[in-house]
Amino acid sequence: MEQPKNNFQTYKYPGKGAVEFAKELVDGMSREEAASIIKKINEGAYIDRSDRRVKRCSHCGYFYRDKTKPNNSRTCCKECKIDLDTFNRKKKKADQELLNPTKKAELRYVWWLEYPYWVNEKEMLKWSWKYEAPYPTDAIAIMTAKKQEKEDLGGSRKKSTENY
Ligand SMILES: [Zn+2]
Repeated sequence: MEQPKNNFQTYKYPGKGAVEFAKELVDGMSREEAASIIKKINEGAYIDRSDRRVKRCSHCGYFYRDKTKPNNSRTCCKECKIDLDTFNRKKKKADQELLNPTKKAELRYVWWLEYPYWVNEKEMLKWSWKYEAPYPTDAIAIMTAKKQEKEDLGGSRKKSTENY
């Protein structure tokens, strides 16, 4: 008999759709009968392989019946979909950071604080010759401009409330 592939390392509870699917199959059975059948269902028994709507949930890993019209769901229920999407998003982010470590290098010089500092000494030695003069002065110029902007905004806001 074909063994179902199980890539799921940790035990997950079946999602709502998977429970519903199993329920349909054991409808009318005693609890004992149902328990052994449910176990076998998860092992891939009693599954009609020609039924294209019967699928394994990509998140909880249990079988379920796809009830979406285009038959294109990958998870048995909304909760599983949300969890899977969250997992994929996290994975994608981690992969990207792994593939593009250069992005992190932008954080070489923390110039936006009042007292700018280098993230570490190595970065300082590597880059300071390049930016020694322009970087910090630019930063100060930007900060002064921003501060001025804020004060201007605050001033005009004060004025307008006084008019009311
Ligand atoms: Zn599921």
